[in-house]
Amino acid sequence: MLSSKMKVAIRSEKFVKLSGKHVSFYIKYASIVFKSLRKPLFQKFLRWMLKRENIGDDMVSNVQVRVFPFQKRNGNSLAGKCNAKKGEIRIYPKKLEFCRKLKQKFGKEKVRPYIKNRAKAALIHELLHLKYLDDEEKVRELTRKYFIIFSRHQENKNSNANIFLRMLFKQ
Ligand SMILES: [Zn+2]
Repeated sequence: MLSSKMKVAIRSEKFVKLSGKHVSFYIKYASIVFKSLRKPLFQKFLRWMLKRENIGDDMVSNVQVRVFPFQKRNGNSLAGKCNAKKGEIRIYPKKLEFCRKLKQKFGKEKVRPYIKNRAKAALIHELLHLKYLDDEEKVRELTRKYFIIFSRHQENKNSNANIFLRMLFKQ
């Protein structure tokens, strides 16, 4: 089962560079992500998706919820990574500064749902990479499709999935 392969992973050398405020923000962020990715309803959805895509359980060895963000050379932060050979998936957070701006723009109550939805979309995306490897276009198209399917089945109908869809997939 996928939820049993999930763990929170921390790279300790990053601690040194960050302030206490940053560290506590990222630890809280990781715990929100970890909990929401392990929710039974989402796990059930993932099982259905993996079956439908013929992605076998043995293709995933572990899913790491990374505590600190991964910054690409162009300054953007990375949502996730997939090493299909090892079956290793990593999910990264948004930066504190980004969440602060989000809070200013959309209000505090939108930050948590954004964090959860982004992580879910990232996990769907990286799981699809196990099968479609470097076909980024295909993976993006399917991520969108599956995320929409999941959003429609979410218990909380008033969570306003459309806002998050726009926020998550604007490119
Ligand atoms: Zn990708």
